Amino acid sequence: MKFVFPPAPAPAVPVIDSENLFPVHRIYCVGRNYGDHVKEMGGDPKQEPPVFFSKPANAIVINNASMPYPQATSDLHHEVELVIALLAGGKNIAIENAIECVYGYAVGIDFTRRDLQLIAKNAGRPWDVAKGFDNSAPISAIRQLSASELPADTQISLSVNDVSRQSAVLSDMIWSVAEIISELSNFFELKEGDLIYTGTPAGVSAVKTGDRLKASIDGVAELELELL
Ligand code: MN
Repeated sequence: MKFVFPPAPAPAVPVIDSENLFPVHRIYCVGRNYGDHVKEMGGDPKQEPPVFFSKPANAIVINNASMPYPQATSDLHHEVELVIALLAGGKNIAIENAIECVYGYAVGIDFTRRDLQLIAKNAGRPWDVAKGFDNSAPISAIRQLSASELPADTQISLSVNDVSRQSAVLSDMIWSVAEIISELSNFFELKEGDLIYTGTPAGVSAVKTGDRLKASIDGVAELELELL
């Protein structure tokens, strides 16, 4: 048997200080994981469980690239996020075993077509068209930090045209890395190659053609991107 056409190459992310690539299996995302962002979106952080959604693996955009402003929106929002890269997985992973699944971390942007998301929310529809579009998941290179949590005071930030838009510490996350992996594995069998975008702090806002975005997580990685 032969393929009808040649299969596309696997989406893959560079690894810092390495010539290896991390092949991406799936992209999972967490919504509403920082208290300030939940409040700015009109929610109560203590009353809501984590919201999970996903993006196609080929939605990644690799560090220091440019990308076109997406179609079908006039309100594209940046969401800077810690990204977990998994080297192992499973179903129903206990919280105390979850961190052993971690290969490393990156900084990513969960681009959101906010206008389409608001329509979906108001109509009780899925978020796919708001979240899972082409080039919606820029990511830095991955720093290998196997089976380790990051320090609680680690800074995460994003600027647009060198103006700060988002800045927080990872301890502001409502759900920790281990809790996210454990809870997500109650819904999906996690695998090596999975990426998990872990939610964004307050300060999300619209970007436009010509904007230059810089995202960073101290001690992990930096990401630069230009919208064409
Ligand atoms: Mn997000």
